[in-house]
Amino acid sequence: MPTFVYMTRCDGCGHCVDICPSDIMHIDPTYRRAVNIEPNMCWECYSCVKACPQNAIDARGYADFAPLGHSVRVLREESKGTVSWKVKFRNGEEKNFVSPIRTTEWGSIKSPSEYDVPSEESFKEQELAHEPEALNIPGLPDLTLKASDQEAQ
Ligand code: SF4
Ligand code: SF4
Repeated sequence: MPTFVYMTRCDGCGHCVDICPSDIMHIDPTYRRAVNIEPNMCWECYSCVKACPQNAIDARGYADFAPLGHSVRVLREESKGTVSWKVKFRNGEEKNFVSPIRTTEWGSIKSPSEYDVPSEESFKEQELAHEPEALNIPGLPDLTLKASDQEAQ
């Protein structure tokens, strides 16, 4: 479900613009308020929803399974450490979900330029760049076939 902005709530702070990985949250040059310029390209990551201090961003359900009349409201409450979702169906039924905020501390993620330049040899390895360190795991499982597996094939 892509997002949209309630322009009357938005104060144009730009947090959603900064955090959007798809670069589709823009500040409208005339109204100085945020707008999702290309909902089709929305990752539906909801980073913008959770980052918005004004709770000005909501999720828009797809018309096939969430036709007109439904609503999805998201509330991020820093003081409680929670993100709450209130989903209202067309028949009036409501579902509420509450999750803990698990935001990674700003500036705590190592930037790609802080890693060593990959060697030629590393291109032959199964790990992608910065793995396994960036995944916070000691190592990936070994996917190479053992001799006994190969015999069984
Ligand atoms: Fe960008 Fe994610 Fe918000 Fe979509 S949900 S507009 S991809 S931050
Ligand atoms: Fe507007 Fe919220 Fe985006 Fe700030 S984060 S520009 S208040 S929609």
